[in-house]
Amino acid sequence: MSQDNSYIPPRKPVILTGDRPTGPLHLGHLVGSLRNRVLFQDQYKQFVLIADMQALTDNMGNYAKVRENVVEVALDYLAVGIDPAKSTIFIQSKVPELAELTVLYLNLVSVARLERNPTVKEEIRQRGFERDIPAGFLSYPVSQAADITAFKANYVPVGEDQLPMIEQTNEIVRRMNRSLGRDVLVEAEAIVPKVGRLPGIDGQAKMSKSLGNSLPLSASADEISKAVKQMFTDPHHLRVEDPGQVEGNVVFTYLDAFEPDVDLVADLKRRYQQGGLADSVVKRQLEDRLQALLQPIRAKRAEMATDKAAVLEMLRKHSLIAREEAARTLSEVRREIGLDYYFL
Ligand code: ATP
Ligand code: MG
Repeated sequence: MSQDNSYIPPRKPVILTGDRPTGPLHLGHLVGSLRNRVLFQDQYKQFVLIADMQALTDNMGNYAKVRENVVEVALDYLAVGIDPAKSTIFIQSKVPELAELTVLYLNLVSVARLERNPTVKEEIRQRGFERDIPAGFLSYPVSQAADITAFKANYVPVGEDQLPMIEQTNEIVRRMNRSLGRDVLVEAEAIVPKVGRLPGIDGQAKMSKSLGNSLPLSASADEISKAVKQMFTDPHHLRVEDPGQVEGNVVFTYLDAFEPDVDLVADLKRRYQQGGLADSVVKRQLEDRLQALLQPIRAKRAEMATDKAAVLEMLRKHSLIAREEAARTLSEVRREIGLDYYFL
């Protein structure tokens, strides 16, 4: 009897995700993406990229900062539970195939389309780039498209600010596939958690490394305490007995994101809105929660940081694995385009 060799095992869905090494990861990353990555690494084939090339798009001249933060971001990953036995954690610049894909994809996007990206628009404003935008910065969503498609990622766990990037990626995928007449690239889907955008401790719309309004995962107990004390509440809640507002009140937004006891949060909200509950009581609840959340992360990070060489070695090995994967997609694209000059 002939044996049927045609069975192909179902491919595990692929995840591509990552961060810019521009500073220590913070609470926004924890709710926006890190928690999901820890959950997903068991069911999916997960690639986590440290986007140093992308970080340079608004940090040229600040090479040392980017370089130093590569290992720091990796330590943050390990501290929150991203497991190198389950996830491939790699450095973007160690996979030059991504840069080549970026150059190819740039031909599929117009400058006007890049300028319409709402997240990039906002970041240009924040960085004061209005009059002189680095071309690399304007087109960093195209390099993200390269990152995502090189691994044929099906899912991208991200914060809300990244939704326009996924949209742009999928436009590139469709254009490329249409022009090739074959579905070589795969469209990706964003996975955004319930709290998709954590505000800064100053009440600004987004906690961000570059805005100086973040609480790092590696913060000391004192820094946590200070940050909670500084946090914005309802500016009209002047006397304890006054009714307070919960919407837009950062302390409550954080409780929603970090306090698992939803009944307790609902009760605090009710009492706050009625009047008679002091800001300091709500803040104490949040501080206790954050101290309990960050203490083990800080301890694990300190332990891993004693052997940075081992972390760098892991990144080196994982970058080789990632490179093999990206090279496969690149050569497929090159072949389809007709750039496979095998006779030369
Ligand atoms: P930078 O200021 O250098 O851009 P960042 O703090 O915005 O840094 P990124 O490395 O750009 O961090 O973002 C990495 C990932 O973390 C993205 O998926 C992003 O959506 C998510 N993220 C970052 N900040 C937040 C936040 N405040 N709330 C939810 N998700 C966030
Ligand atoms: Mg950012």
